[in-house]
Amino acid sequence: MTDPIQELFAHNRAWSAQMERDRPGFFTSLVKQQTPKFMWIGCSDSRVPANQITGLEPGEVFVHRNVANVVVHSDLNALSTIQFAVDLLKVEHIMVVGHYGCAGVKAAMKGTRVGLADNWIRHIQDVRDRHHVMLESLPEAVRDDALCELNVAEQVVNVAVSTVMVDAWSRGQKVTIHGWAFGVHDGLLQDLGISVDGARPLDGIYKAAVQRIRAKWSAPAAATPQPRAQAVLQDK
Ligand SMILES: [Zn+2]
Repeated sequence: MTDPIQELFAHNRAWSAQMERDRPGFFTSLVKQQTPKFMWIGCSDSRVPANQITGLEPGEVFVHRNVANVVVHSDLNALSTIQFAVDLLKVEHIMVVGHYGCAGVKAAMKGTRVGLADNWIRHIQDVRDRHHVMLESLPEAVRDDALCELNVAEQVVNVAVSTVMVDAWSRGQKVTIHGWAFGVHDGLLQDLGISVDGARPLDGIYKAAVQRIRAKWSAPAAATPQPRAQAVLQDK
């Protein structure tokens, strides 16, 4: 039987050789510098790989991932990564990317105990509690998806109010934060329309995005579980 770890090394050697055949000098140029225009803040979920989804190559996207793409004001890991991306690499776009069917979001919605991670998921429960009136008004089948999008909106705000972003915008640096959601069921990204660039008031953009999320999931079509919503339910 092939050792799965040895298989990874075999794939890696094949990939490296293929890259060098297709693009001679590719790795030599990577060594010289990394100048990504994009930063991706996403979920650790193995089904949501930043580079593959967006067609970006090594050197083109700076990535931070954790359970359920959360940006906490006191998380030095996330904040340091954002600071490195903005201050040193001068990224122009930061994408906060949630995904439908997120186990972290589902656990937060139901209050499922999963262990130590409960303390991390508590941040998403705070989002759930902040929007509980809206969530409870929605059909039960779509609440996880709605919370996934609300979580993205909240985390976009958390990035926007971080000292890193406040300082960057105050010195005139051009950086836009975006909120996206990824469909594991169809491989497609959706722009949730909560792009923040430091020029327009954050509060209005956030409120409009939350209203759009409410309208989207309250719509009669959403009340009848769609094939996608059913697929998500079967994941549980
Ligand atoms: Zn997830």
